[in-house]
Amino acid sequence: MLDLKRKRLKMIELIRLMKTLDQQVAQCSRCGICQSVCPLYDITKNESDVARGKLMLLDGLMRSFFDDPAGVRQRLDRCLLCGSCAANCPRGVNTVEIFLNARMIINGYSGLSLVKKIIFRYLLSNPNFFDRIVAWGARWQYLLFKKTDFKLDASCSTMVSPLLSERQMVPLAPIPFHKISSGLKSGLKPKLKQELKKSETEPGLKVAFFVGCLLDKVFPQVAIDIVRILNFHKVRVIIPPSQGCCGIPALSSGDYLTFNRLVAHSLNLFDPSGFDYLITGCATCTATINKIWPAMFKPEFESSSEDQKAAVRQIAEKTFDINQFLVDVIGVKPCVPPEEKSSKPIVTYHDPCHLRKTLNVYSEPRIVVQANDAYSFAEMPDAASCCGMGGSFNLTHYTLSTDIGKKKVAGIESTGAAVVATGCPACMIQLADMLARQKKQIRVAHVAELYSEKIF
Ligand code: SF4
Ligand code: SF4
Repeated sequence: MLDLKRKRLKMIELIRLMKTLDQQVAQCSRCGICQSVCPLYDITKNESDVARGKLMLLDGLMRSFFDDPAGVRQRLDRCLLCGSCAANCPRGVNTVEIFLNARMIINGYSGLSLVKKIIFRYLLSNPNFFDRIVAWGARWQYLLFKKTDFKLDASCSTMVSPLLSERQMVPLAPIPFHKISSGLKSGLKPKLKQELKKSETEPGLKVAFFVGCLLDKVFPQVAIDIVRILNFHKVRVIIPPSQGCCGIPALSSGDYLTFNRLVAHSLNLFDPSGFDYLITGCATCTATINKIWPAMFKPEFESSSEDQKAAVRQIAEKTFDINQFLVDVIGVKPCVPPEEKSSKPIVTYHDPCHLRKTLNVYSEPRIVVQANDAYSFAEMPDAASCCGMGGSFNLTHYTLSTDIGKKKVAGIESTGAAVVATGCPACMIQLADMLARQKKQIRVAHVAELYSEKIF
């Protein structure tokens, strides 16, 4: 009986979502402007890959949606969710939200695959358990990957090549940031310990640091740099323990249940009345907290619903990317460029889609990069084009992802850069892979790393 009631509620929710989707899709005028900015269409020249094609598919198939969910899912999955179409749409059609809603409907109807169920419902949904599994993975990863003599630490061994293709993997960090920041790991350099401790007691501005999965588990040094930078600028940093994922990997796969759970988990840790700003060093986390949480979070319990929605709105308003915070709030300025052509190493900057297209943040990271006068800055052609990562798109459509990435590498190389900086750890992984595969000796760095080099 209870099961029947649950199914009925689920169907009612699905029908409600379908109606919303119908209205959203109807806003598209089919003008086709999105064709010229879609990185996927640029490679495939396939109309069904571009936003207009997907919206027509959704419109046309709306009524037969339930007949061919697998077909619709397959077509919708061919998308990087980069937001280039939304950022350039003259009618302001929020394509990314539409695609996320459509994936939610399909998933709600036909369910998650077993693999995704395990990853999202059992791992991501339980941050402490997820941490333990990743720690185990970090310990044994070199059984699966062999070291290369190249800039990256690891590459695919023949044993797992069929699964991971020719990827050049950035390895998991031996010690994740949450262990470093909580002092759980002994053997830390005393100076670092002191710095992390000091940041908790600074007077003045108070920021909460949302670390994100990739900075925590793959690039803890970047997270340390962010804390040190904030500390240097006399900002007090709060780092709540047991942080989880921002939820976007689950939502991108249509798993709104896990997404809602993860947002609720973060709400328990980040009380918006306890800080002035929430800072992240991940473009995707920033865009998700700032835009997707308020638009798509649905509280589980009616009783706390309004409070949670209000908290989500307050957190979203206070959420800043680290570059935005350093420039707009702290007032970091670029160094004056030398008049003569300098012999300094060249640094260029890649715009993460979620910073530039979703949040309109593009001048600030360039200012922070240019605050380090050890480098000379050169703009790459088409810096705003997608690197081809697109989260799980890279896992499911690696060949397409690589084709998009190759164009990015050509742009980076044309500047003669020794370093490519960016503001998103997922882009860092993709750029490192693309550069390594083409045997380019170009360092990939987070903007915070370069700024930290300047001040320490
Ligand atoms: S999504 Fe926007 S840009 Fe693309 S066809 Fe529709 S109205 Fe035009
Ligand atoms: S989100 Fe990006 S990849 Fe997807 S349709 Fe829009 S422009 Fe193309």
